Amino acid sequence: MATQDTSPAGVSFDTDQETRLILDSLAEFVEREVEPIEADLGEILTNPRLGHEPDGRLTEEVLDAIREVRKKSAEAGFYAMNLPEAAGGEGVSTVTWYRANRAVAAMESDLSSEVLAGPEGPKPLLAQAEGEQRERYLEPAVRAEKSTAFAQTEPSVGSDSPNMRTIATRDGDEWVLSGEKQWITNAPYADFVQVFARTTPQAEAGRYGGITCFLVESNEYEVGALNNAVGSVGRQAEIRFEDVRLPESRVLGEPDSAFYDAMGFLSLGRLELGAQAIGASEHLLEKCVEYAREREAFGRKIGQFQGISSMIARGRAKQYAADAAGLRCAWRMEQGEDTIEDASICKWFATDTFWQIADNAVQVHGSSGLAEENPFMDFLHTARILRIVEGTDEIQLNTIAGQMGVR
Ligand SMILES: Cc1cc2nc3c(=O)[nH]c(=O)nc-3n(C[C@H](O)[C@H](O)[C@H](O)COP(=O)(O)OP(=O)(O)OC[C@H]3O[C@@H](n4cnc5c(N)ncnc54)[C@H](O)[C@@H]3O)c2cc1C
Repeated sequence: MATQDTSPAGVSFDTDQETRLILDSLAEFVEREVEPIEADLGEILTNPRLGHEPDGRLTEEVLDAIREVRKKSAEAGFYAMNLPEAAGGEGVSTVTWYRANRAVAAMESDLSSEVLAGPEGPKPLLAQAEGEQRERYLEPAVRAEKSTAFAQTEPSVGSDSPNMRTIATRDGDEWVLSGEKQWITNAPYADFVQVFARTTPQAEAGRYGGITCFLVESNEYEVGALNNAVGSVGRQAEIRFEDVRLPESRVLGEPDSAFYDAMGFLSLGRLELGAQAIGASEHLLEKCVEYAREREAFGRKIGQFQGISSMIARGRAKQYAADAAGLRCAWRMEQGEDTIEDASICKWFATDTFWQIADNAVQVHGSSGLAEENPFMDFLHTARILRIVEGTDEIQLNTIAGQMGVR
């Protein structure tokens, strides 16, 4: 269990000057480059009935807008800002990247979430690419010219992913990959997918060993049905691999070690979602304050009712505490310390806080909180999703309990 006094002194809650400059230019970038794209799309972006094809896929118009934002962001140096310079990124510190994620999520803009690479973009796992993999996969992903996906979840395993059924076996110089994945974000639109497959049985390699990550191109797999979640329609899908033959050059990292590699980056992914939850919570709290100060009932502003003001104040206290946990986690990660517990605390607490704040934001806004044209129910759905992906609430709590020695 991490204690308060194991880290060297020096964690600062103030934004340093370099980070301030990055955050200011990020805000300017969104205003100058992203908001006009959103304005052109108008209602198409906010009304799901207009932004989707009859089969649920995003329309080409929406996809083009998303791709344009990512490309512009890559050109401006934001998209892959946290990847090391050697991998084509900007090498910003984890604390700066944390603050950038939080800032982007706090913005009013609908497309700002595309500015920093998500599951479709270059992540530290892909930064392991070597030789021709760099040219074919990593570099175009960093430039946002190609998009990818991270495929671990299967119909029969989610949280228990080492028990995956997808397998790859060697045949001469090649690998033969077979299996099925589901709920894979960006799978319908990706140029290539990072697919996790068992290559050595658990009995031989242990629970976490014997899993390899393969780079599989879009013409080599079949996209099945969309896995639509309330709050995330047209973005996830099933993908199938039937005896797909892959050369050795498609192995990302070392064979049999992909699960360990992914675990090395797990904390970063959890911190990222925590930062997004904290930023979105900040945005919702601002909306609640604004509304509580202007909306009247019984001859008073609703903010004068203690039921409303306490709801908002409680949310702020939790969002403040979640942010402190996130900053501390980011800073300890930057020092190279073990942040397994920190990242689970941050992810669980931040997403649970976001969920409560989103629910309260609906309450504060009354019927208009439920109105389709307002974003509050969308935030509630997003918060619900964040409590499932990258390790459910229960998995985070198991991790914390494990780090404390309870389990
Ligand atoms: C919008 C969205 C996007 C996604 N994107 C991706 C993606 O890009 N790539 C990818 O690979 N996957 C993706 N997923 C899948 C996601 O990661 C899994 O859904 C998640 O890991 C949970 O797995 P599951 O749904 O199979 O639930 P299960 O693992 O079956 O869990 C069901 C319930 O049992 C609980 N549970 C399970 N094990 C334990 C335990 N040991 N202790 C206590 N409780 C437990 C869980 O917490 C949950 O409440 C996405 C999912 C969604 C909704």
